[in-house]
Amino acid sequence: MALHTVTLIGNPEPIPVGKIVCMGRNYVAHIEELNNLRPERPMFFIKPATALSPIDQPIRIPPYSSQARHELELAALIGKTLTCANAEDVYPAIDGYAVALDVTLQDVQEEVKKKGHPWEIAKGFDGSCPISPFVPASQVPRPQELMLRMRVNGELRHNDSTRLMIWKIPELVADASRYFTLEPGDIVLTGTPAGVGPLEPGDALEMEIEQVGIYHSTVVA
Ligand code: ZN
Repeated sequence: MALHTVTLIGNPEPIPVGKIVCMGRNYVAHIEELNNLRPERPMFFIKPATALSPIDQPIRIPPYSSQARHELELAALIGKTLTCANAEDVYPAIDGYAVALDVTLQDVQEEVKKKGHPWEIAKGFDGSCPISPFVPASQVPRPQELMLRMRVNGELRHNDSTRLMIWKIPELVADASRYFTLEPGDIVLTGTPAGVGPLEPGDALEMEIEQVGIYHSTVVA
């Protein structure tokens, strides 16, 4: 089933999603592991709503890739319209937080980067954004102090705190709203910590963000 809506726990109706604004290179150690330069300003890209899938559904690697990578990220659900917002306007405009995966086709991304082409086919394909139900923001009082952990077949990959973000949630969401008006139902992915690694068919995944949830999934070809 295609999922163009997300669930906010306690909300009776599913929430239609507009767009998913993602942040690249927001944790220092992850920038180093990919040999990227630390950007002077936040770097954004967008996934379409068709990228969403429930986080407990198997992840399908598209046939045009043979090298997928996981990036575990804290997702924020926008509840109020933000345009050229100030950082102090951001927390009151966030309705909830979720566990998200930014599934990236590494081989495809390297190819398009080399050619100077856009990233969408490497990061915005169907199913490239597995996402959990959102926990109301009121139950996540300190989103900037949460541990993110990911295990693949029991092996610990990501294991870092949202404290390590270069741009904190208020700054990065405010900055994103300078380029893209954020509307209720939009989602912001806040970047991956270090520990990215391959996803292979048959892998068993455990994805956890403190206070937000722990979820399991698998990878299929
Ligand atoms: Zn990412």
